[in-house]
Amino acid sequence: AREAEEAGPVTPGTLADGTPISLLANLGKPSDAADAVARGAEGVGLFRTEFLFLSSAQAPTIEQQRTAYAELLGAFEGKKVVVRLLDAGADKPLAFLNDAHEENPALGLRGLRALRASEDILREQLTALAEADAATSADLWVMAPMVTTVEETAYFTTLAREYGLRTAGVMVEVPASALLADRVLAHADFASIGTNDLTQYTMAADRLLGSVASFQDPWHPAVLRLVREVGAAGARTGKPVGICGEAAADPLLAVVLVGLGANSLSMAPAALADVRRSIGQHSLEDARRIAEAALDADDAAGAREAARTAAQK
Ligand code: PEP
Ligand code: MG
Repeated sequence: AREAEEAGPVTPGTLADGTPISLLANLGKPSDAADAVARGAEGVGLFRTEFLFLSSAQAPTIEQQRTAYAELLGAFEGKKVVVRLLDAGADKPLAFLNDAHEENPALGLRGLRALRASEDILREQLTALAEADAATSADLWVMAPMVTTVEETAYFTTLAREYGLRTAGVMVEVPASALLADRVLAHADFASIGTNDLTQYTMAADRLLGSVASFQDPWHPAVLRLVREVGAAGARTGKPVGICGEAAADPLLAVVLVGLGANSLSMAPAALADVRRSIGQHSLEDARRIAEAALDADDAAGAREAARTAAQK
């Protein structure tokens, strides 16, 4: 909170018609908080907790975790901070949690699936988060990665609430959970769309494989149509829908995502200023029209071009 005062008041993100859109930061470690605040982040939309686990041969203790989470939450007093539970596997393998012999690790025991298979690690992480939450005054939201089914959603949110964590949601980064977003949101307090993995799974193209990199484009209308499903489900259920994949950092795509129903955008702090400027140039009605143009294209390049043309009108 002190850093926020020093940097001046954070102005909330708004569309040209005054509609608020929270502009949040993606962070990978607590020490990144000051820079995010200085760049105008209203809070944290994705705190990746893997940093605590990647450097060691075994899981960190509850106390080590509590210290790190309290440092993060302490930097955002009164602000929203979305902490993602450990997302191990695929592009983020962990020796003590993942089976190195999976042939298709992106389709394997990763994210919530891996946590559930080692529930002690999940419970320890929830314990540490609840303790850090009790000791600080940020608005802590917790979310699970790689959630595919309604049953997994209910499992995670029920467990998180058992630990006294008030706001529990899921990442939507698999087409199955995007298509059933209304059912998912019946059990979750919010959804946050991870466009990096959602693109990988929609386009059936490994995000780590250079030879298929051209498929990894979140502008693809197939990806945008899935985002539309989630946005519509959010509007129907009155639950917040955010974006925390790289797509939110693209100033024009950010407008499209808002037009599809996102109420918050989380990104690398360096992208905040450009996205703030871009969304400020369009009303919600405009953003919806620009999104419609993008949805109507055949491919990613066509969607980008259609949105660019629509944004100039
Ligand atoms: C995503 O998949 O879009 C996401 C935000 O998570 P990560 O990049 O950490 O998998
Ligand atoms: Mg992901």
